[in-house]
Amino acid sequence: MRLSRYFLPILKETPKEAEIVSHRLMLRAGMLRQQSAGIYAWLPLGYRVLMKIQKIVEEEQNRAGVVELLMPTIQSADLWRESGRYEAYGKEMLRITDRHERDMLYGPTNEEMITDIFRSYVRSYKDLPLNLYHIQWKFRDEVRPRFGVMRGREFLMKDAYSFDLDQEAARHAYNRMFVAYLRTFARMGLKAIPMKADTGPIGGDLSHEFIILASTGESEVFLDKDILDLPVPGEDTDFDADLSPIIKSWTTPYAATDEMHDPEAFGAVGEDKQVSARGIEVGHIFYFGTKYSEPMGATVTNSDGVEVPVHMGSYGVGVSRLLAALIEANHDDDGIIWPVSVAPFHVGLINMKPGSEADGACNALYEKLEAAGVEVLYDDRDTRAGAKFASMDLIGLPYQVIVGPRGLKNGEVEVKNRATGERQMLSPEAAAEALI
Ligand code: ATP
Ligand code: MG
Ligand code: MG
Ligand code: MG
Repeated sequence: MRLSRYFLPILKETPKEAEIVSHRLMLRAGMLRQQSAGIYAWLPLGYRVLMKIQKIVEEEQNRAGVVELLMPTIQSADLWRESGRYEAYGKEMLRITDRHERDMLYGPTNEEMITDIFRSYVRSYKDLPLNLYHIQWKFRDEVRPRFGVMRGREFLMKDAYSFDLDQEAARHAYNRMFVAYLRTFARMGLKAIPMKADTGPIGGDLSHEFIILASTGESEVFLDKDILDLPVPGEDTDFDADLSPIIKSWTTPYAATDEMHDPEAFGAVGEDKQVSARGIEVGHIFYFGTKYSEPMGATVTNSDGVEVPVHMGSYGVGVSRLLAALIEANHDDDGIIWPVSVAPFHVGLINMKPGSEADGACNALYEKLEAAGVEVLYDDRDTRAGAKFASMDLIGLPYQVIVGPRGLKNGEVEVKNRATGERQMLSPEAAAEALI
């Protein structure tokens, strides 16, 4: 992409309304524009990152055997009356009336709708297990939308729903999702720690929040620092095998949010290993049994021919919140530092002097890298080099290639690693080799 033809509205001033660094940097880097409180337009650079995150989430859901579909954002209130949640949900739900005076709503989550889809088609235990997901915009009329996409009102969520014959089978579905989440966040370069979460009236121990440590996080968390060094399951994980040993290793060290905190158990963790910190909830998995299948009549016949309600779980990932979490975890005074896996472009190519011999060298590099599948943002604009450097640092692409007439005289271009600040003078050919 040539910057002269792109749309990257970088702000010079630091926006006053932004309280945390990720929000400030997203606005300054031209990724995001607020349209109403908690409702954002995704500008091209922000949208590219959002789609990269979405792709990783999809790949790991697919790997774990979850099947993608897409449900609408607008739902009928009648479904929610069946589950009893229409009244219970309260003011967080955006209620809408259509021209025929029908009660509709903008979905804050999809348990009811997926249960309706399930009951319309599935009749037999032979069709189980089933696990379906979608990535769709949600709306929650949060009391205090803040921190940009960290707590928006409209936000992108991955939500999956599992259907099983009994609790034991549902536990396996839960374990699969647990492992898929460990992999998903690790691929983005994040350490997301599974923490025991409140299960509400259903009880049991089958709910975990996945939390990223960050001083700006809204949750207060307590953990045994051993959990930070546990290995993440590899690509070759067999999701049909018994995953309980992995789950056991990840749920043995102490880790809890303040709602579930047990000071006594935390005290038993050696003092040198106790960590009290703040964290961001980026995912949440939940087994809730027959909470929706029973009132909504989502049943299957079991092997004895008896009709039984299915056991369900739901599993959310805050796809748009992850952008903010990623920036909270990866930035410095100059701007964002994207991990390669989610970077909007891999390389920022800076032409120090458009109109000079740098043009030819830049064009050649640009074409070579793009042809090799390396995504390049080429700053070909006729502006000051200093401003170009500052913009590149701000938007945080993993590598910069700086090309100017002076370097070219010695047959060299400069390659800068955004994360380490390390700089190297290389021939254009060697630079291309290093980046491919
Ligand atoms: P929170 O405690 O932050 O309000 P939640 O527990 O209400 O989140 P869930 O119902 O568990 O959220 O939804 C699944 C995921 O969706 C959360 O783990 C979070 O990552 C994301 N999410 C929830 N609310 C928002 C929001 N207002 N803006 C952005 N992401 C959100
Ligand atoms: Mg909430
Ligand atoms: Mg929560
Ligand atoms: Mg939650």
